[in-house]
Amino acid sequence: MAAVRRFAFPLFALLMLALPFLPVPDFWISQSNYIGLYAIVSLGLVLLTGVAGLTSFGQAAFVGVGAYAAAFVTAKLAGSPLLALALGVGLAVVAALVLGAITLRMSGHYLPLATIAWGLALYYTMGNMEFLGKYDGILGIPTLKLFGVDVGSERHLHVVIWVIALLAALASTHLLDSRPGRAIRSLKSGATMAEAMGISTFRAKLTVFVLAAVLAAVSGWLFAFFQRTVNPTPFSLSKGIEYLFMVVLGGVGHVWGAFLGAGVVKLLEDQLQVLLPRLFGASGNFESIGFGVILVLVLKYAPDGLWTFISRWVPRAERPRDWAQAAPLPVRAKPTPGEPLLQVQAVRKQFGGLVAVNDVSFEIRAGEIVGLIGPNGAGKSTTFNLITGVLSLTSGQVLYRAEPIGGMASRNIARRGISRTFQHVKMIPDMTVLENVALGGYLRGSAGPLRAMLRLDREEERGLFAEAERQLARIGMADRMHELGGNLALGPQRLMEIARALCTDPALLLLDEPAAGLRHKEKQALGDVLRQLKGEGVSLLLVEHDMDFVMGLTDRIVVMEFGTKLMEGTPPEVQASPAVRAAYLGTEH
Ligand code: ADP
Ligand code: MG
Repeated sequence: MAAVRRFAFPLFALLMLALPFLPVPDFWISQSNYIGLYAIVSLGLVLLTGVAGLTSFGQAAFVGVGAYAAAFVTAKLAGSPLLALALGVGLAVVAALVLGAITLRMSGHYLPLATIAWGLALYYTMGNMEFLGKYDGILGIPTLKLFGVDVGSERHLHVVIWVIALLAALASTHLLDSRPGRAIRSLKSGATMAEAMGISTFRAKLTVFVLAAVLAAVSGWLFAFFQRTVNPTPFSLSKGIEYLFMVVLGGVGHVWGAFLGAGVVKLLEDQLQVLLPRLFGASGNFESIGFGVILVLVLKYAPDGLWTFISRWVPRAERPRDWAQAAPLPVRAKPTPGEPLLQVQAVRKQFGGLVAVNDVSFEIRAGEIVGLIGPNGAGKSTTFNLITGVLSLTSGQVLYRAEPIGGMASRNIARRGISRTFQHVKMIPDMTVLENVALGGYLRGSAGPLRAMLRLDREEERGLFAEAERQLARIGMADRMHELGGNLALGPQRLMEIARALCTDPALLLLDEPAAGLRHKEKQALGDVLRQLKGEGVSLLLVEHDMDFVMGLTDRIVVMEFGTKLMEGTPPEVQASPAVRAAYLGTEH
């Protein structure tokens, strides 16, 4: 079965590239050209919608940009096709950057709405501009000549289209399995965790949006030479919806879902166009109705698309362990023990009328393990969120190594050496444990999307994976690194989060209820690891309900109740305090 996975791509590529040289009727070559063109656009949508969780209805408009650039430059200016490609891609990038810059900082439906507006605006622009030929479009596009060779025939174009489609698929696969790819894959699970690992989620979103636009524009450029004429119709909003339909049908989360969806839709379209009018005894565009019915059925019975029916037979490949020899990543110089590390100064957080954290102050010195305890709802997690920039301060200040960090973006705080786990585990369920942990190493790498797509990032990747495995081994989870994060029980998921936080090479580590859901033995092992970290110069702030665990581990404890600091002292002092006892008894019984 592993062989299937290994040879499927080369065989498929060989078939598609050989197709025009086989005795295949022209009709099928033409169909296959359409499928390749659609697949290139769909590929962008898989990355954008399936992987990153962003929806665009405007991909057809980006196709139009590429197509009109090709038509205008070659037919009207007699310019070269490559110049046209540069123009088309350049315009698409600019449009995507502008649209993205406006909408991607906002959450939810702003991007879909903006892409609808963009799709409509571009359609009417194309249809009303004199120099673009209005609704008649631009005719008389010359055949495609590349480097002096005429590749304009349908069969030659088939090779060009499919080389580009296959390379795009390969580049996308490479991207998803890389540092920037993991950042893009983390977008769907919400920004909080990704930002806490140092990822700029805005930048990751913008990257994938631009990438999808570029793929669409390249498809449009090819489309112009395939049709030899362009007009606004194929770039309308309804075509934009059809592209979305393709990826939902094929499998929105999979690179090959794009190809399957493009193929099925194109072939189905032709069948339905003939079949349905005969069935209804009248002519009309009944295929839209057919598509609607099919979409509903697919969403009901195969919500992940048709590709799942194929991928079910191909086992998930375990990542070959090629990083054993990788050079260790550089390690951050740890602050001198005893140096004031974190100063929390009268921090306050109000949610409307509720004061969740009420002017709380405390300090952590380098090399200390400090406990933060208190009954449920006392404001411990909120305090964590204030320190790590997940929530904004209502008032007060936080100093890290004497630098004010209050109001900084979470990712910039992470960059300074503060890492954390979450009370409610935040991870990417469809990433392996190893990949989830490698996400913590994000700031220790530098590979961007281009390097990743060209696979020039392998050395760095090996370093990141070696580090991820090392941290997993330390926490006793190395034997589970190939499992999917989502398949773990809660206890191991928490341990995975700790390994991920360790992968950031923190100077200060904030753990929110790390021992919850762990068995006695696992708790002991965790305690040992935390003590060992302290020995390495890592400072810790620990929220935990298991009092034995806290008392045995911490140097100092801060007690909170109803948002305020009740007391602070050594474990024996806290244990002896009647006020603390009353706080716990008062709320838990
Ligand atoms: P702890 O971690 O000590 O159990 P939290 O910090 O989670 O407590 O919560 C403190 C208080 O703030 C609780 O009353 C909780 O309901 C409230 N709270 C926490 N987060 C939010 C939020 N995002 N919006 C509104 N209220 C919140
Ligand atoms: Mg909490």
